[in-house]
Amino acid sequence: MKKHHITAIIFLALAGAAAIVSGASFLAMRKPDIIVPGPGVSEVVMLSNWYPQLKGTPGDTEVYILGKGNPGASMLVLGGTHPNEPSGHMAAILLIENAVMTSGTLYVIPRANASGFTHNDPQEGAPQSFTIQTPNGPRVFRYGSRATNPVHQWPDPNVYIHASSGQSLSGSETRNRNRGYPGRENGTLTERVCYGIVQLIKKEKVTITVDLHEASPEYPVINAIVAHPKAMGLASETVLGLEMQNITIGLEPSPVNLRGLSHRELGDFTDTLPVLMETANASQGRLRGRTDEALVLTGKDKWYVKAQKLGRLYVPYDENGHPLEERTGRHLAGITELAFSWTLENPDSALEFTGVPAYAELQEKGLGAFLRPLP
Ligand SMILES: [Zn+2]
Repeated sequence: MKKHHITAIIFLALAGAAAIVSGASFLAMRKPDIIVPGPGVSEVVMLSNWYPQLKGTPGDTEVYILGKGNPGASMLVLGGTHPNEPSGHMAAILLIENAVMTSGTLYVIPRANASGFTHNDPQEGAPQSFTIQTPNGPRVFRYGSRATNPVHQWPDPNVYIHASSGQSLSGSETRNRNRGYPGRENGTLTERVCYGIVQLIKKEKVTITVDLHEASPEYPVINAIVAHPKAMGLASETVLGLEMQNITIGLEPSPVNLRGLSHRELGDFTDTLPVLMETANASQGRLRGRTDEALVLTGKDKWYVKAQKLGRLYVPYDENGHPLEERTGRHLAGITELAFSWTLENPDSALEFTGVPAYAELQEKGLGAFLRPLP
């Protein structure tokens, strides 16, 4: 055997080993995270329960129902619409693992874009997951992509035309879950998942829908609630309630000419009161430096501190960053305050729960203190 043959065999073997290792790590992303239902969960059903065509597709996803059959109002919380925005995902999980309804019903979808959790955005260098230490050992959660996995929906058109309005956007937005509402039967997978959520809202007559997001610290709509005109009164009271707890939050009306978003279409097409909340996530920002698990968990980034000093950001940013506890705590405080404001105005149709960690408590004890031991 010639020397170059041996070199070729060695390289083939090395390439084969690399493919096996990376392939296994890649396929592991398709295994959903373990979520441990808390004492308040009455039932876990799949979204296909409301839209059977989703059954067996990568878009089908778990719906956790808390306080099923209780009298009172209801709320739907969507986490993981964009799986690279972890505070919404974590807030949904903390609700599932801790909340107990005293009146009304809570529906929680922690992986609103289940397909988006099975891959990462190319060329972003984002971690595939992040680990939270708990008193009972580590818990690992997926850090996914903003969009539906192209393995599940491909190819993208050159131009994405939003079905019910005709609005045109760039082709890749066709896989953006928050541009697909109100969704379409027999549409793309992304549109069908949106359609399934709309069916749930209509069938269960969901009173309030909260879509949890994060945004780059340089994005203008941040640390904010975006509300449909119908939900403006409720959102205003919520903002006042949060400000009284020293949680600074902006209130933005849902733009009329930006279509396909939850806070616009769910209000136009259903009777729910839709709001969307944003927190500041450096790990999805464009100005960030090193991108790793630590950035996801702490939000500490010297380039964002510099950008803040140059007046380029829409949120305060110092050496303390914006830890995941703070961002998740903002979402939970917003949800708690929305329920409180609703109940204050509608005492005959109350929405009340206990067990959800308060903002200060979460900062003090950390996320791990509110995650259950794995079975
Ligand atoms: Zn988002």
